[in-house]
Amino acid sequence: MNLTRQIEQYLPSQLLELVQNISRQAAEQGQRVYLVGGVVRDMLLGYPNFDLDLVVEGDAVKLSQQVAEAGQARLLAHHRFGTAKLKYQNFTLDLATARKETYARPGALPTVTFGTLKDDLIRRDFSINAMAVSLAREDYGQLIDPCQGKDDLEQGLIRILHPESFSDDATRILRGVCYQQRFGFEFEAQTAQLLKRDIPMLDTISGDRIRHELEHIFEEERPELAIKRLGDLGVLHRINPFLTGDGWIADKFDKARRLKKPNQLSPLYFCLLSYPLGERDIDQFLARLNVPAKLSRAVRDTLRIKAGLTLLGRPSLKPSEIYYLLCGYEPLAILANAIATESSTVQRHLQLFLTKLRYVKTSLGGEELKALGIPAGPQMGKVLQALYKAKLDGEVRTRSDEKKLALSLTLKLER
Ligand code: ATP
Ligand code: MG
Repeated sequence: MNLTRQIEQYLPSQLLELVQNISRQAAEQGQRVYLVGGVVRDMLLGYPNFDLDLVVEGDAVKLSQQVAEAGQARLLAHHRFGTAKLKYQNFTLDLATARKETYARPGALPTVTFGTLKDDLIRRDFSINAMAVSLAREDYGQLIDPCQGKDDLEQGLIRILHPESFSDDATRILRGVCYQQRFGFEFEAQTAQLLKRDIPMLDTISGDRIRHELEHIFEEERPELAIKRLGDLGVLHRINPFLTGDGWIADKFDKARRLKKPNQLSPLYFCLLSYPLGERDIDQFLARLNVPAKLSRAVRDTLRIKAGLTLLGRPSLKPSEIYYLLCGYEPLAILANAIATESSTVQRHLQLFLTKLRYVKTSLGGEELKALGIPAGPQMGKVLQALYKAKLDGEVRTRSDEKKLALSLTLKLER
C-alpha cells in the first residue's frame, strides 16, 4: 500500500520538505529513512500529530550531525543509543538508528543492538504503533506493516506483538490502556488475558518509568478515562493499594481542567490522584514512584491541608487566620484542596488565599517605620506583624491608615 498522497496532505509543507531533504542526504550515504510509530498511526486515523519519529537504517547520529550542519537545527545526540534530536524553530524531529532489543530479565531495560527496520518495528509495544512509511526514493510512501497494525486500526484493536510483551515491559500495560481509552478501542482477546495475567509484573518496573507513563496519561484530553480503567483492572491497586480510579477522580479531574492552567495540570492531576492516601501512606507512595522533590512537597502539603480542613471550614475565620493556616504550603496543594473539598466554605477560604491574601503587602516597610521613629529590633517586628494582620483583615487600607496604626501600636508597646 502506498501512502504518498496521504503524507503530502497530512504533513505541513515545511515539515514535509524537511524530512524529504533528510531522506535525500541519507540516500547519499546509502542509508534509508522511515517515518514510524505515532505519526503513521495518527495519519491513518486522520488525527493531527507532528511529533515526528524517524528510523534510520544506518547511523542516525551521523546523519543528524550532517543535517544539523547543513540546516538551521540544534543537535542533541546520544551516541550510545544511536538516537538524536534535531531542534528547529517550530518543531523537533527524533531520529533513531533501527534497533533490535532483547530483555535480560522482565522489567529490565533492554539490551540494544542495531538492526533492520523490521527488527525495530517488531520490538514495539502494539501493532498500531509498529508501522512505518518509507521516505526513500525507490519506494517513497510505501507502508511497512509487519504486524498487521493497519487491520487492527481498522478493527479498533490494541494488540501486543508477542505473548511475553507485558512481562518484558509492564509499562506497556499503562500504555495500552492509555491508547485504548484515547481511541475508544478494545484489547484483542489474548492481549486482554495477558494484560491481566501480567499486572503483578508492574512490581519489576522502576518508579521513574511508572511515573513517566502516568504523566503520559495526564497529557490525554480526558485522563480520567484511562485512570478509571486502570482502577477497574487492579493496576492502580498494584502500584499503591490506596489509589482509586472511581467517579470521584473523574469529577475532580474535570474541575481541574476547567481552571485552564495547562502548565499546572499534570502536577495537579497527580495531587488529586494522591488525595485518597492517608498521611501515613505517603512515604511509601512517593518512594515507589521516585517522585521528585518539588512534586513530593506538593503531594505532602495536599494531604496536610486535607488533614486540617475542619479548621478551614469554620465560617467565622478572619482573613488573617486563613492566611496563617495556609501560608506555609505549596499553592498547588492549596489548589488541589480547593478542587477536592466538598465544603463551599473551605473552598471559599482556599480561593481567597490563592487569589488575594497571598499577594497582600503592607505599604510601610522597615525603612518607613524607622523614619517614623520606631527603632529596629523586636519592637519593630511586632509592629510590622500587627500591620500585616490588620491589612489582611481590611482594618487598614491606605498608607496613612498604616502610619496611624504603627504609631499607636508603638505608643502601646512603649507603655
Ligand atoms: P503518543 O501519541 O502517545 O505520543 P507515540 O506513539 O508517539 O504516541 P511515544 O510514547 O512517543 O508514543 O513513543 C514512540 C514510539 O515508541 C511508540 O509509537 C512505540 O512504537 C514505541 N514505544 C514507546 N514505548 C514503548 C515500550 N514501552 N515498548 C515498546 N515500544 C515502545
Ligand atoms: Mg510521541
